[in-house]
Amino acid sequence: MAKYAAPGQPDSVVTFKPRYDHYIGGEYVAPVKGQYFENPTPITGEVFTEVARGTAEDVEKALDAAWGAAPAWGKTSVTERANILNKMADRIEANLEMIAIAESWENGKACRETLVADIPLAIDHLRYFAGAIRSQEGSISQIDEDLVAYHFHEPLGVVGQIIPWNFPILMAIWKLAPALAAGNAVVLKPAEQTPASIHVLMDVIGDLLPPGVLNIVNGFGVEAGKPLASNKRIRKIAFTGETTTGRLIMQYASENLIPVTLELGGKSPNIFFDDVASQNDAFYDKALEGFAMFALNQGEVCTCPSRALIQGGIYDDFLQQAVKRTEQIKQGHPLDTETMIGAQASNDQFEKILSYIDIGRQEGAKVLTGGGKADLGGELAGGYYIQPTVFEGNNSMRVFQEEIFGPVVSVARFTDYDDAIKIANDTLYGLGSAVWSRDGGVAYRAGRDIQAGRVWVNNYHAYPAHAAFGGYKNSGVGRENHKMMLDHYQQTKNLLVSY
Ligand code: NAD
Repeated sequence: MAKYAAPGQPDSVVTFKPRYDHYIGGEYVAPVKGQYFENPTPITGEVFTEVARGTAEDVEKALDAAWGAAPAWGKTSVTERANILNKMADRIEANLEMIAIAESWENGKACRETLVADIPLAIDHLRYFAGAIRSQEGSISQIDEDLVAYHFHEPLGVVGQIIPWNFPILMAIWKLAPALAAGNAVVLKPAEQTPASIHVLMDVIGDLLPPGVLNIVNGFGVEAGKPLASNKRIRKIAFTGETTTGRLIMQYASENLIPVTLELGGKSPNIFFDDVASQNDAFYDKALEGFAMFALNQGEVCTCPSRALIQGGIYDDFLQQAVKRTEQIKQGHPLDTETMIGAQASNDQFEKILSYIDIGRQEGAKVLTGGGKADLGGELAGGYYIQPTVFEGNNSMRVFQEEIFGPVVSVARFTDYDDAIKIANDTLYGLGSAVWSRDGGVAYRAGRDIQAGRVWVNNYHAYPAHAAFGGYKNSGVGRENHKMMLDHYQQTKNLLVSY
């Protein structure tokens, strides 16, 4: 067992600055209105830094810098941009431990996740898009003897990006890697709950980019996010966050007739068919592990498997084992490498989850384990910890229909294949989902019948850079990851030439 020292202690791998300004034009810039907000760690509730409170004036400054940098950046060769992305990846890799611990401290998530998943995935995304931009090709078609069509890719110019707090660094890199690879300049607004992680990242990679190519404006949604998303000087807005906010972003974008990418909420079904039945083998164990994934990242995952649907034949046995597995999830200090579930990211989130646990009880869902605040005591007494909670109920309940975004799973029984698909698709969302079956035919059919952008078959929560990710229905518009993302950050220029 290893436990990292908390920032502020002499042997910590991270030193936060007491104050973070905006990052504009390659340097730290104080907010025009001079205001800052306090940033607490959810691990103990203590404030560890303060952050510039951005306004429309700061957004304009960042856009000035981005517009200044965009023309030259857009004309750099793809080789040059790919090399820079690779260098960014190398720098992050060299500082992985420091960045991972900083993110855990700010977000409350277990460092065993940030060390082996969140930051390594971010590194891989940068390398993937460095390769993707170099392998992108245009096309030439001979229309006629003397008429030829050339198709070119051109950057959009200056783009806006707004991200949430659940995977601060990974969400930033998911958006930055394709945008920068395609030759755009960016103004990015981090979530108000996790801005320091982004500045720790900028301290590591900022100097690799020409000043103005990547600018960070901190602040709250309406004060800093809206002036960015509704600004006439952006050529695209990419957003990850709640579905209700996504609707607003689309409204702002419609005023300016610019493209949007929206990565929104989910209520993902995790379906276990009868043939999963225990044969005392690795498959059964993996399925139980797949069930327990609802608590990964404290359940603060857009694709959290928050609805478990179990077929009648295995229902009692599988559920009993699944509850047992849930009770083995080790909750504790996020900087302890054995901890599997840490603190919820903010007090607001903590209160929201507890209120949903109350709602579940009131509407008659049965609590099979958990069901409240986790009192970890000692230095963690002021932090935001919730017990992994398993509800049993039916799909019409609010705890089955509304995104809780916490370590809470709602379990229901289904009778046959059609019943499973009907319940799975009876939701406003369509982001993640999973099918568990030993029968490849059933798994394939279910995978095609579920209305969601991502279906994991006999696994859960893999996010390779080369697999397109995004939502059906209220879970979003467009896709992220995969080289198709480059098209979302480029114009197609057609040159029709007579010879
Ligand atoms: P949120 O919508 O409250 O905030 C997200 C970001 O939008 C923040 O930076 C916030 O400051 C900003 N914002 C808020 N109001 C705004 C406005 N009016 N104009 C412009 N910007 C505004 O979401 P959250 O609570 O930070 O994140 C959790 C949500 O994100 C969940 O619903 C989760 O499912 C979703 N999410 C989706 C994905 C995905 O890929 N689909 C990934 C991660 C999280």
